[in-house]
Amino acid sequence: MIILLKKNTDDKKIKYLTGKLSALRLTTKLTEGENLNVLSVIGDTYGVDEESIKALDFVVGVKRVSEPFRLVSRKRNPKDVVIEIGDKKIGGGYFGVIAGPCSVESESQIISLAEKLSKIGVTALRGGAFKPRTSPYSFQGLGEVGVQLLVKAKKETGLKIVTEITDARQLDLFTDVDVLQVGARNMQNFELLKEVAKTNKPILLKRGLSSTVEEWLLAAEYVVSSGNKNVILCERGIKSFDSSSRASLDITSIPTVKELSNLPVIVDPSHASGNAKTVKPLALSAAAVGADGLMIEVHDEPSLALSDGAQAVTTKELSDIYKNVKKILPITGKTIN
Ligand code: PEP
Ligand code: MN
Repeated sequence: MIILLKKNTDDKKIKYLTGKLSALRLTTKLTEGENLNVLSVIGDTYGVDEESIKALDFVVGVKRVSEPFRLVSRKRNPKDVVIEIGDKKIGGGYFGVIAGPCSVESESQIISLAEKLSKIGVTALRGGAFKPRTSPYSFQGLGEVGVQLLVKAKKETGLKIVTEITDARQLDLFTDVDVLQVGARNMQNFELLKEVAKTNKPILLKRGLSSTVEEWLLAAEYVVSSGNKNVILCERGIKSFDSSSRASLDITSIPTVKELSNLPVIVDPSHASGNAKTVKPLALSAAAVGADGLMIEVHDEPSLALSDGAQAVTTKELSDIYKNVKKILPITGKTIN
């Protein structure tokens, strides 16, 4: 961290600041410049409150040169985190495919879909029970019943299940859920992050619609620093000026995050595109760019889907995507399991 100080700052004031920093076990080095003085701060600066330093009247500016996170940092933890979902893995060379409907709609829908997806060989079944919908008038999900139907599908097919939690008060209902999803809209719901971290279940953390990579990794840091290191990041596209697709898939974030962090990163091409026709090319590009997996919405009667029908691929289309992704994976040295 570099702190720029006014040229003729009183020694006493500088001592006050260096004293504060040394209490955080940081060392400092002062360099006199022509117009400004530069205080270099050496050590682990993630705990430094930049704002309180900026508030000092002799400070001109503060620049962070190291990452504000540490537990999810690849620099500090070079080894890939591998997430185990039953006997399947995501991360560290293992590529996972999570698939299922946007929403659990009925017993027959989820069971028949789960049976078909299990035959394709997917890693886990997804399905929303508590749906964070933009409009209060849209289908809100089956709630507790939806979770129970997912658990039933798990018992019948052996597939592990992933579903979104929107409120910590739902946790008791999620005992038999294998992976807890924290959706884009809740990425910075820090109290929820701390609560889900208390479980030992993997947390699928979606990127916020307008969140930077750093904010996303700091959200993951909340989960890990609260005691749960099993985090899967999920890029689902971000808001942009362009309305030709539902969101813009930030494919750049995949190699960027993989360089900054040792957590696995998967891609959700469905919410990024909003259009079933573009799910396959986005899925293939995600595999090629080094993602550790995919999360894809599937529905065999998309026009009857209670949510996100336009972006749902059929099981037949998913099977085709799955086969083609498998062909691409040798490029990145990953295997599907
Ligand atoms: C979902 O996966 O069903 C979902 C609501 O996604 P997101 O949080 O990315 O919008
Ligand atoms: Mn959806």
